Amino acid sequence: MAENYFNIDEKLLELSEKALNRCKEEFIKIDKTTEINQQKVLYAFSANRVSEADLSITTGYGYGDRGREALDKVAAMCLGAEDSIVRHSFASGTHTLTVALFGLLRPGEKMLCVTGTPYDTIRPVIGIKGKEGRGSLKDFGITYMQTELTDSGRVDLDAVEKMLKTEKIKMVYIQRSRGYTLRPSLSVEEIGEIVALTRNFSDAIVMVDNCYGEFVQTKEPTDFGADIIAGSLIKNPGGGIAKCGGYIAGKKELVELCAYRMTAPGIGKEVGATLGHTRDMLMGLFHAPHVVGEALKTAVFCASLYELLGFDASPAHNEERYDIIQSISLGNPERLIAFCRGLQKGSPIDSFVVPEPWDMPGYDNKVIMAAGAFTSGSSIELSADAPLREPFAVWLQGGLNFHSAKIGILLSAQEMLKEGLISL
Ligand SMILES: *Cc1c(COP(=O)(O)O)cnc(C)c1O
Repeated sequence: MAENYFNIDEKLLELSEKALNRCKEEFIKIDKTTEINQQKVLYAFSANRVSEADLSITTGYGYGDRGREALDKVAAMCLGAEDSIVRHSFASGTHTLTVALFGLLRPGEKMLCVTGTPYDTIRPVIGIKGKEGRGSLKDFGITYMQTELTDSGRVDLDAVEKMLKTEKIKMVYIQRSRGYTLRPSLSVEEIGEIVALTRNFSDAIVMVDNCYGEFVQTKEPTDFGADIIAGSLIKNPGGGIAKCGGYIAGKKELVELCAYRMTAPGIGKEVGATLGHTRDMLMGLFHAPHVVGEALKTAVFCASLYELLGFDASPAHNEERYDIIQSISLGNPERLIAFCRGLQKGSPIDSFVVPEPWDMPGYDNKVIMAAGAFTSGSSIELSADAPLREPFAVWLQGGLNFHSAKIGILLSAQEMLKEGLISL
């Protein structure tokens, strides 16, 4: 690198070259996936005849909003689903998943999560955490059960089979991404196995929390038989352009039930002014395969560099990936803090902010975060979170473009170097 605007240590730059060289095979695989997914998305735009008029604004009820209808069709096709609802008015991924769960489950029915304890924010929705009386599934008489993961972090298919044989399960719930744990994420093929197992013993709905998984492989859980999937637009499928929102996709009649919960029974997806968000959501979806590829390259490079620095990366740089999350075990709180501070310096927004560990509501340990994003809280943009507890691992995700995110990663290491927390 001839120019060195960020004054990155020469030895670190040498190591970076070495780290990058080790990524070649992975990058080729990522490019192949991107190319297939990008073609799929372009084809969906063309097959659904998306027009300039679809990019316009509706207000009020938003009846007959053609852009909204086009977006739902395009997203469904990209996700291998019969239908979808893609809306800026979903406040977050959690809200979107909540709408789907309440849309599909009825009092007296049973939900079985097969991937161990679900993501933090879903627990109060189910009613396994938090106060009673707030309107959780539990408050509405929906029973929750889960099967634990095996010691190697895999779905315990025997335990699932036993449950399906002995209990009347209405929904089998799968979390594809590892979230902020060290378990492996699930491939769409593994999800397909769980679908097949479910079909053998019951007519349960298979729902997948698809957060962080979209476009990481060339197929989605819906292509492998999942009935319904949901996710956030400030992660993968928003391509870094959607300003907010979420999506639900799957079987037509199930998407319709979710739409009745989203608006009102009898109204469903026929209303909802888009207020000018359609262009962002369409453009974001269009960019999503490429941006997910950039985020994956960022993760692979980060793993490669930190492995060379002597740390444990999960997944390893050359391991298969089914989501965009990368964790690095840094061993002590000082390194965690330095990592986040360095990464923040490599952000386009708020690069001058110094992250501090804080007592985040709902967490048992202090948490430190690095985020300098165009969209607040967006985790398809380069970002990192770390709870200050053993094994002092940082979870990194995103990167709108690899070239920029690479500098962020180098600055995270530079910060540790500067503080004498690593040596080269
Ligand atoms: C991000 C995420 C959610 C929730 O999304 P929010 O937008 O943070 O509410 C749910 N499940 C998983 C696995 C996630 O990664």
